[in-house]
Amino acid sequence: MKISSKFQPGKVVFSLEIFPPKQTSKIETLYSMLDELSEIRPDSISVTYGAGGNVADLRTVDLAGTIKNDYNIESVAHLTCVSTSKDDVEIILDQLRTRNVENILALRGDRNPDVPPKEDFKHASDLISFIRKHGDFGIAAACYPEVHAEAKNAAEDILHLREKVDAGVDYLITQLFLDNAPFYSFLERATIAGIKAPIEVGIMPITKKTQIERTVSMCGASVPQKFAKMVQRYGDHPEAMRDAGIAYAVDQIVDLIANGVDGIHLYTMNDPYVAKRIYESVENLLQR
Ligand code: FAD
Repeated sequence: MKISSKFQPGKVVFSLEIFPPKQTSKIETLYSMLDELSEIRPDSISVTYGAGGNVADLRTVDLAGTIKNDYNIESVAHLTCVSTSKDDVEIILDQLRTRNVENILALRGDRNPDVPPKEDFKHASDLISFIRKHGDFGIAAACYPEVHAEAKNAAEDILHLREKVDAGVDYLITQLFLDNAPFYSFLERATIAGIKAPIEVGIMPITKKTQIERTVSMCGASVPQKFAKMVQRYGDHPEAMRDAGIAYAVDQIVDLIANGVDGIHLYTMNDPYVAKRIYESVENLLQR
């Protein structure tokens, strides 16, 4: 099933994101995580893909296939194109078809200064057009409420987003943010630019101090004072930081749903305990 059919008036789509575990980690650990996450019965689970993705590395497509076929949950395979040729994308599309995976999150991927990019796809929009021509997949794409780091300004970024949507996107998923206000401004810019695709909000619960350097700073999210104070007070107390991070994410989600968002996409960081606690706190707001 295409994920786009899950966006219905009055309903809030709820999806999860996981990453493929290291090749050395135990298969039992993966299944135990999937068992727990599947109890949420999310509308979909998406699986990330390495920016320098290697066509021989089947972890993303295999895991997306497992979610779809063993757990009966729609899966979304992320696919980056910065280091991928057209031939490789065709091979990956075939592998997805074989596993009955019907949805792709089409991305450019981050450029690595040490690895020259392949020339076949310059922007995510090129990959989206290619997938549209080469198969019947549901296609999602990324968007950046606080503006993508490489864009000259918000106006240019939103024009490129419109081009990307016009290339054949069914719905969008946002980069994480910690302050809802810039997201509401982004929604206004998107409406003015004529973007009609549903937008799922990417929420990352920050439950460990180390995540701030690793993820929040890397993606350039602005840090509200409320969040900074929370980390200052609880950052060195793991259980308190975990509970505060969950409460912060729930607070963001309650406000977003009250303001009518189309969906919530939870970056689970492969932590089912945190994902379940957040889901249980907002379940009744989703009107599923
Ligand atoms: P694009 O849409 O191509 O945009 C990148 C930049 O190029 C923007 O500044 C845009 O304004 C500009 N641009 C676009 N079109 C044009 C044009 N025609 N002319 C000039 N400039 C243009 N990365 C991974 O490696 N693996 C993952 O699994 C992964 N999952 C993600 C999931 C989500 C929900 C999000 C939000 C991001 C994810 N990323 C992932 C990160 C993503 O790959 C990076 O943010 C990357 O830098 C941009 O990818 P994009 O698809 O948004 O690129």
